[in-house]
Amino acid sequence: MIKIDVAQKIMEDIKIDLKTEKIKVINSLGRVLANDIFSEIESPPFDKSAMDGFAYNHKSGNTNLKIIETIAAGSAVNTELKIGECSKIMTGAMIPKGANKVVKIENCSVENNYLSFEPEKNDNIIYRAENLKIGEKVIEKCVIRPQEIGVLSSLGIAEIKVAKQPTVGVITTGTELKNPGEKLEIGQIYNSNGFQITSQIEAMNCKAKYYGTVPDDKSATLKIIQNAINECDVIILSGGVSMGEFDYVPQMIEQNGVKILFHKLAIKPGKPTLFGQKNDKFVFGLPGNPVSTFVIFELFVKPFLFKMMGIKFNPKNIKVKLANEVKQRNTERTSYIPVKLENGFAIPLKYHGSSHLNALISADALIKIERGITKITEGTIINARQI
Ligand code: AMP
Ligand code: MG
Repeated sequence: MIKIDVAQKIMEDIKIDLKTEKIKVINSLGRVLANDIFSEIESPPFDKSAMDGFAYNHKSGNTNLKIIETIAAGSAVNTELKIGECSKIMTGAMIPKGANKVVKIENCSVENNYLSFEPEKNDNIIYRAENLKIGEKVIEKCVIRPQEIGVLSSLGIAEIKVAKQPTVGVITTGTELKNPGEKLEIGQIYNSNGFQITSQIEAMNCKAKYYGTVPDDKSATLKIIQNAINECDVIILSGGVSMGEFDYVPQMIEQNGVKILFHKLAIKPGKPTLFGQKNDKFVFGLPGNPVSTFVIFELFVKPFLFKMMGIKFNPKNIKVKLANEVKQRNTERTSYIPVKLENGFAIPLKYHGSSHLNALISADALIKIERGITKITEGTIINARQI
């Protein structure tokens, strides 16, 4: 058994050649930015009014001013206010020369083209380059969210370089598997991993290619792995990686020229996990038990796929109070326990084992019990890793 930090280090040390492509910002939601973004413009590009109101020079102390013009947003302004003058101004419009304050329209009264008003504390001006200066770093490499799309657009950027999405092949193994929609015969169960793993890949915006299920048969397994390695950047197999008599996956992976970098992790669930490399292709063998598959994808596959896209995956961790004591009998492995988060508490889910997939429906996060620890008592402040 290999400790999880050792396994993580093996994965971190792998060198990846980042593949990128140019796409339109409007099509970039959920994609990974390939480089940091620096501003090539000032924002705003001119002093502008934050309010609908009147622009004036407050230094004169005069609160009875002649209105000489109306300035709309978008118009170029050439006037220079003289003593005793003001401009009616709209939100977003350029401040005229000679003005240093805007009084909002709610505090004004106008008679015979003359303004009288209550002076305000705020100047209601957004100054040139107040939000952004030329050369300022605006966005670090990240998964693009709507706010990044907004900011990129505000910088005048229409196209960006993003990481190419890795193509991830999924193969499910198991003679006992039938697909949803089919009729189960005695001894058979439904294949959930094929669809769960595919969705986990798609949820992080990589390309999933599902090869379907192979029975526990050496030559069929050998062939499908060969096919998938040729066509994909990463392949994920579910099942057949343990010690059973018909668990052919590790052997067939090796026969395909894949070097196994680790097999069997000191983790619960997910002990049989396997990871291998063939040139620039990577292979994960995940245990067939669906809870294990889910958890190992979160902990190992997801960070690796983000690494392939050039960024470090930072799971969202929050500090919460443990609602009930959790125990582990076998302290040789690190345990991950699904929890529900409620009002600052982590409620451990009643979870019988790694086949108990429906327990995950209420799971918001995973908590960790380190090796060597037998229990964590109720009320302890713990880290919950959101899923
Ligand atoms: P294995 O890792 O192949 O020994 O499988 C472990 C357990 O997970 C067995 O009970 C399998 O029937 C079950 N299992 C394997 N593959 C799947 C799958 N694709 N969907 C749901 N359960 C599976
Ligand atoms: Mg099996």
